[in-house]
Amino acid sequence: MVLIIYGSMENFYGLTLTQLESIIGALGKEKYRSRQLFKWIYNKNVLEFGKMTDLSKSLINMFKDMFFLSPLKTKDVFSSKDGTMKFAFVCDDGNIVESVLIPDKDRLTLCLSSQIGCRMGCRFCVTGRIGFIRNLKTSEIIGQLMGVRQHPGVDKITNIVLMGMGEPLDNFDNVMPALEIMKEPSGLDFSHRRITLSTVGLIGVLKSVMPKTAGIAISLNAADDKTRSELMPINRLYPIEEIVDFVRNYKADRRTRITFEYVLINGVNDSLEDAEKLAKLLKGLKCKINLIPYNESPFIDFKRPSEKTVERFHNHLINRYYTTIVRDSRGGDIHGACGQLGMRYLDQG
Ligand code: SF4
Repeated sequence: MVLIIYGSMENFYGLTLTQLESIIGALGKEKYRSRQLFKWIYNKNVLEFGKMTDLSKSLINMFKDMFFLSPLKTKDVFSSKDGTMKFAFVCDDGNIVESVLIPDKDRLTLCLSSQIGCRMGCRFCVTGRIGFIRNLKTSEIIGQLMGVRQHPGVDKITNIVLMGMGEPLDNFDNVMPALEIMKEPSGLDFSHRRITLSTVGLIGVLKSVMPKTAGIAISLNAADDKTRSELMPINRLYPIEEIVDFVRNYKADRRTRITFEYVLINGVNDSLEDAEKLAKLLKGLKCKINLIPYNESPFIDFKRPSEKTVERFHNHLINRYYTTIVRDSRGGDIHGACGQLGMRYLDQG
């Protein structure tokens, strides 16, 4: 149910197709017009209702009165020597939100933010240091994607990861409609297999996320509660056992596996004993493991392990028959790598 308030303009990017259909119905127009609008806006990337040539003048005028089409405004674009680009967008209230575009062979992955700051307080993460400022609206999540698409030379984005600033499941009410918009076949048409939602493991909320919503990545980072609680305060609320139980009972199709992310931090969680603990913990689970060597920042004391340590940890898991990959750090020179977003908030004190 969508309330139409004439006179108050809203950003179209916040509307799901279902909401749009209710509006079109309330205006006495045919339902299929909604799909035509989605096609113009998301498929053809058109930013003005007036340019949608197969829509009637009366419908265009009604939409011009009710909605505007506004991607987030780009403040800065930083380009890394490895091809990664970091976009800093400015919201209407002046807050800055960052997104990262990562080219990799035949993929172009966009990492989106879901909040400004974050209340999860993971000790290895710059965004966690900022603390929570506010949730992003649905239109601001889609507005990042559309903002990146306006940038000259940006090719077709093939994958979306919600791994930027914020914990997506802590902003469930705005993130779920954004995923619905991304997946709508008449518009952006991302398959759920090409979207990954990364979470610290808010199990209470995760249980209400249906399997075909998106791929799930759980940020684990330790195989024992003591170390994990030190790194991630949320572990006191949802300890490791609950996460493992959730994954064991996760009902998905045969091809779907949950990913565990494990940030390797020098001297904290990177020993062979840690690798063996992890192997034992995940025994029998249908999962993949992504190892992410820590990306250092001037605000946090943790250090990245040596390549030899990473290789040893990796090999140990491979020898235990886990599908494990070491995630290349991308965009480190522009502070666009995992855990580095939002540094400008700390820079300003
Ligand atoms: S790692 Fe993710 S959940 Fe943890 S503080 Fe950073 S942004 Fe928040």
